Amino acid sequence: MEPNQNNWLRTNWIEKGTAQRIFVELKFTLRDCNSLPGVVGTCKETFNLYYQETDSEMGRSLRENQYVKIDTIAADESFTQGDLGERKMKLNTEVRIIGPLSRRGFYLAFQDVGACIALVSVKVYYKKCWSIIENLATFPDTVTGSEFSSLVEVEGACVSDAEEEAENSPKMHCSAEGEWLVPIGKCICRAGFHQKGDACEPCGRGFYKSSSQDLQCSRCPAHSFNDREGSWRCDCEDGYYRALSDPPSVACTRPPSAPQNLVYNINQTTVSLEWSLPADTGGRNDVTYRVICRRCSWEPEECVPCGPNVGYSPAQSGLVDTYVSIVDLLAHANYTFEVEAVNGVSDLSRTQRLFAAVSIATGQAAPSQVSEVIKEKVQQRSIQLSWQEPQQPNGVITEYEIKYYEKDQKDRVYSTVRSKSTSATVNNLKPSTAYVFQIRAFTEAGYGTYGPRLEITTKEEATGRISSAIVSSEQNPVIIIAVVAVAGTIILVFMVFGFIIGRRHCGYSKADQEGDEELYFQFKFPGTKTYIDPETYEDPNRAVHQFAKELDASCIKIERVIGAGEFGEVCSGRLKLPGKRDASVAIKTLKVGYTEKQRRDFLCEASIMGQFDHPNVVHLEGVVTRGKPVMIVIEYMENGSLDGFLRKHDGQFTVIQLVGMLRGIAAGMRYLSDMGYVHRDLAARNILVNSNLVCKVSDFGLSRVIDDDPEAVYTTTGGKIPVRWTAPEAIQYRKFTSASDVWSYGIVMWEVMSYGERPYWDMSNQDVIKAIEEGYRLPAPMDCPPGLHQLMLDCWQKDRAERPKFDQIVGILDKMIRNPNTLKTPAGTCTRPISPLLDQSTPDFTAFRSVGEWLEAIKMERYRDNFTAAGYSSLESVARMSIEDVMSLGITLVGHQKKIMSSIQTMRAQMLHLHGTGVQV
Ligand code: AMP
Repeated sequence: MEPNQNNWLRTNWIEKGTAQRIFVELKFTLRDCNSLPGVVGTCKETFNLYYQETDSEMGRSLRENQYVKIDTIAADESFTQGDLGERKMKLNTEVRIIGPLSRRGFYLAFQDVGACIALVSVKVYYKKCWSIIENLATFPDTVTGSEFSSLVEVEGACVSDAEEEAENSPKMHCSAEGEWLVPIGKCICRAGFHQKGDACEPCGRGFYKSSSQDLQCSRCPAHSFNDREGSWRCDCEDGYYRALSDPPSVACTRPPSAPQNLVYNINQTTVSLEWSLPADTGGRNDVTYRVICRRCSWEPEECVPCGPNVGYSPAQSGLVDTYVSIVDLLAHANYTFEVEAVNGVSDLSRTQRLFAAVSIATGQAAPSQVSEVIKEKVQQRSIQLSWQEPQQPNGVITEYEIKYYEKDQKDRVYSTVRSKSTSATVNNLKPSTAYVFQIRAFTEAGYGTYGPRLEITTKEEATGRISSAIVSSEQNPVIIIAVVAVAGTIILVFMVFGFIIGRRHCGYSKADQEGDEELYFQFKFPGTKTYIDPETYEDPNRAVHQFAKELDASCIKIERVIGAGEFGEVCSGRLKLPGKRDASVAIKTLKVGYTEKQRRDFLCEASIMGQFDHPNVVHLEGVVTRGKPVMIVIEYMENGSLDGFLRKHDGQFTVIQLVGMLRGIAAGMRYLSDMGYVHRDLAARNILVNSNLVCKVSDFGLSRVIDDDPEAVYTTTGGKIPVRWTAPEAIQYRKFTSASDVWSYGIVMWEVMSYGERPYWDMSNQDVIKAIEEGYRLPAPMDCPPGLHQLMLDCWQKDRAERPKFDQIVGILDKMIRNPNTLKTPAGTCTRPISPLLDQSTPDFTAFRSVGEWLEAIKMERYRDNFTAAGYSSLESVARMSIEDVMSLGITLVGHQKKIMSSIQTMRAQMLHLHGTGVQV
């Protein structure tokens, strides 16, 4: 009731801790002045709130004026009223904020200047953001900022096994109200760990996570594993690798296997190699190829790298395509080529290199140019020239040809003179006339190219002197040729005579042979050696040892049985000769209890084979006759007989590869025919194939050749003959010649191009003989280039003189290989011959009444429903079918597709022939 009240209440010292902004919540009751009688003028309805910051407790030393006023606090509408003597209390709540505070603590003070007030509670507090894990980062308890508007930026710490995302470290903001706001950046689980809730857990066994960027752990890729938890990658299984550039997510891979089916073609001093993809690319698609060329001496076999003089087209390594040509090789040299497939992990692997290899002897090459020519003597009517041997003779030069013509003559009539030495005199020239000369060399391989033109003018005619009309025989080219011819004839007579003598004495002694060779080198008749029939030897043992090397049985290791021969088992094994690399061999054995005749016949094959030395004729390593069992050791041909090999790989080769095989067989046959050997049983079953797809002629023998062959049957002329392969004249009157071998070769071509189909299918032998006699010839196999079928038809000329020689066949095939365009089968053309086979064994298709009957006849009745379902109800509709139509019936076996297609084509030809109506396909 007194005026000028000034009452103070002060708190204890409050330590503020980390707080900067303090909230003060007051709860109080206040009586309104109206409700108090007699206090007008002194009564107040507010009070004042103060604070004072200090670093420590101050006791009672603070004075009133040292306090800082926070606010005057008034009650809102809540007075304490006393109506009707009843008191009704109303609690007011007011909150004030102080800050920013800078001292360690503070006091609060309340000043009452005349109010009737009851301070019920004072709550002093500050706000903070509570510790939290957000985006895999931990944010600690954080006290809010000093200002109402301030946000406290807080850096998060990644949880264990997590890391900050690059350039995006985790942050959050603590607001004045104690709320976390605005998260920025994040943490992510490091490699080997994945997120589960707010933590990172290790990837399980068999899983990996290569990078923190990946979200999930992944299962180990193929050929890799891990047996730890928390792996960032999986380890490769043994033998598998990862290239440096391979990410951990790709499968482990391995080096490719060797290229397959390596085939080669030699054109003089150029070798073309072609191969197919390796069976196993190691699981990668970055396979390239490299070629290693080595030149080998003949004996003992020592090889050196080919060096920089050899050219590779398109390149020696990094080859993407499966072919390469190697040029500028030496003529008549032995080379080994290794083709290796490599991929991104080849260099990591320490396993053995895998490659396909061929050993090749380069062929003959014509000599190089004769370029250095000197005019020795120039006369009025003659010019004497000399010259240097060409730089690369590539063989023995047997002759030079000098071509010359009058320079000013309009029609340029050439004359030629030949010389065996490096000089020549050209006679019968006109005086004072300019002549142009060019010279070329001749070897067994043919003529080289002419050298540069050399112009020489003869001397002027001396006046008054009469030129001699008689020219000495030595200088007259006509006479020179005559002399050479006579000498040649004489020597030929000697050779033939010598040969007959040799045969009479069964004498193919070393001396005779060398004698022959000498004559040969002087005179160069084609065909170096001549085959000698071992039957002409009185002592067959001598024949064997003449032609075959006797091997020590201890050098031979038999490994397993691979086939059955006529005289005993055929085994594979290894031959290790002293000083030589060991080689895979086939070993033919003579079964125990043989008769003397059987032994002779058995060894006869070796006596024949031993005379041959050609890359396309199976090579004899030697024989064992002085121990038991008696053995013939032959180079090993990994892929066995050609017919079986083709059937096994039906449809898998390119036409070029097939033609390459045919070329090899033809080259082998050319060699045999040049030696005067007639094979008589040339058929795909008697060709052996090695791992490089090189085909070699095999199966030599005399009478047994035919006896041994299951295809051979007795004919009316008494002999046993493989009818389907044999030329008509050989069947009829046993006229076996190289020309009849050519007929058989045509059949082999057909076998090859049809992947081992049986010639004339299941026709009987009698019907085959009859059909051939009537002019029927096998039609082109499916997809066979017309040029090849034409060559087959040429081999099957009735008149044997009309058939091509093996030499020509090799030439034609070489041309085809060089120009693969000629091997394209024109799309949509039917290459069947016009004359169809009309006999009892090949069904006469026009006689069938239904599709079912036809299918039964060609043993394909299992597809009857397929034809019916697709609506092929008449033979006419079947005759219009294409290979695609046949395939669309669901006939998936290539052999069956071919059989059906081949039959449809014959049917079509018959309809055309009989009704003259073409079927449009
Ligand atoms: P042959 O008595 O010559 O008909 O041989 C019988 C079988 O043995 C042949 O069909 C071939 O499968 C196999 N054979 C013969 N010679 C060889 C060889 N040099 N390399 C691999 N297999 C061979």
